[in-house]
Amino acid sequence: MTDAAELRRRTAELLAANPPATTDRLDFLKARFDAGLAWVHYPEGLGGLAAPRSLQAVVDTELEAAGAPDNDPRRIGIGLGMAAPTILGYGTDEQKRRFLRPLWVGEEVWCQLFSEPGAGSDLAALGTRAVREGDDWIVNGQKVWTSSAHVARWAILIARTDPDRPKHRGITYFVCDMTDPGVDVRPLRQITGEAEFNEVFLTDVRIPDAHRLGEVGDGWRVAQTTLMNERVSIGGMRIPREGGMIGPVSKTWRERPELRTADLHQRLLTLWVDAEVARLTGERLRQQMVAGQPGPEGSGMKLAFARLNQEISGLEVELRGEEGLLYDDWTMRRPELVDFTGRDAGYRYLRSKGNSIEGGTSEVLLNIVAERVLGLPSEPRTDKDVAWKDLAR
Ligand SMILES: Cc1cc2nc3c(=O)[nH]c(=O)nc-3n(C[C@H](O)[C@H](O)[C@H](O)COP(=O)(O)OP(=O)(O)OC[C@H]3O[C@@H](n4cnc5c(N)ncnc54)[C@H](O)[C@@H]3O)c2cc1C
Repeated sequence: MTDAAELRRRTAELLAANPPATTDRLDFLKARFDAGLAWVHYPEGLGGLAAPRSLQAVVDTELEAAGAPDNDPRRIGIGLGMAAPTILGYGTDEQKRRFLRPLWVGEEVWCQLFSEPGAGSDLAALGTRAVREGDDWIVNGQKVWTSSAHVARWAILIARTDPDRPKHRGITYFVCDMTDPGVDVRPLRQITGEAEFNEVFLTDVRIPDAHRLGEVGDGWRVAQTTLMNERVSIGGMRIPREGGMIGPVSKTWRERPELRTADLHQRLLTLWVDAEVARLTGERLRQQMVAGQPGPEGSGMKLAFARLNQEISGLEVELRGEEGLLYDDWTMRRPELVDFTGRDAGYRYLRSKGNSIEGGTSEVLLNIVAERVLGLPSEPRTDKDVAWKDLAR
């Protein structure tokens, strides 16, 4: 098994052969991937060395100290956090070889075509249809709230392939080419003024069967891998102390003593401790994930993340008083990355509202924790054995 010393040796070798100061950024990232130092827990030949996931920090620390470029994880979050583990879990060897390297180095951005106007929390009710035609599938339907669709090269897509089966069982999982002429991406403006997400219309989009992930009709199971990982990637990101939403408000507190009050001080201290506990719990969760896929505890992390971001950004607005909600720019931006903590206090306050919706609403995650962690009785599900086509919609 590859240990820390071996990883340090390989990292030094990578740096010697590709000095960051004189090597093109993309060339460096490709060399890092090929050396198995991209995500060390991935298999050899696919950017990893089948090493324990916890050892990634060894590589990251050495590379950071040497001034090596990173792959800008915030820009390619959906690819790294959701598409990649799904491809690794269900993709064929050919799919893994084709998709993982350009995904990790950031040459190809991914988006997620899951939610529909009538299927969000109840995702399995989705109506986008995929019909087999020879070696291809023809896809028609509408998706919504698709983050980064305007910059994406590929999408992970779930579609209904068998309307005669109950809703969870007639779904299939695909990789969709976002450059297909049948893909129409239209901006949706958010409360922040930006259009970070989109509605996506799919008209006779052709997907080769070779771009199917998992078995026909097994898409719901494949999608669970994506969703479990999504919650961890939103709520359990690796961040340094004060690296999240608590950072800017702590900075304002230190730099602007004239804004302080005793009440706000007490609340800030409580939230600072909560944020640090959440951060360290995320570290522990990532270490547990060494053993396999994340379980329902990822939902707990994401719940805490949403609550904290909303409370902390609310406190920051209060602390700043009149200037708190001033907003720098209302023109509709089309950002290339999702940045929860960027820009000013007003932006952070507004953007954090979406944290309790994206990646599963807090109510739905509470249901998951209640059922799968606490063992409470599940919600009544009357549609489990009814064909999707017979459901009231
Ligand atoms: C910023 C942002 C980015 C997003 N990015 C993407 C993306 O890239 N790709 C994608 O596919 N989707 C994306 N989404 C969509 C997101 O996953 C859905 O909005 C979410 O799952 C909720 O679905 P819905 O909007 O249809 O609301 P609904 O499901 O209609 O929910 C409405 C309300 O009812 C509550 N509710 C529903 N069911 C239950 C229940 N069983 N018990 C208790 N309460 C319930 C919900 O909590 C909510 O308050 C994004 C959303 C946001 C806000």
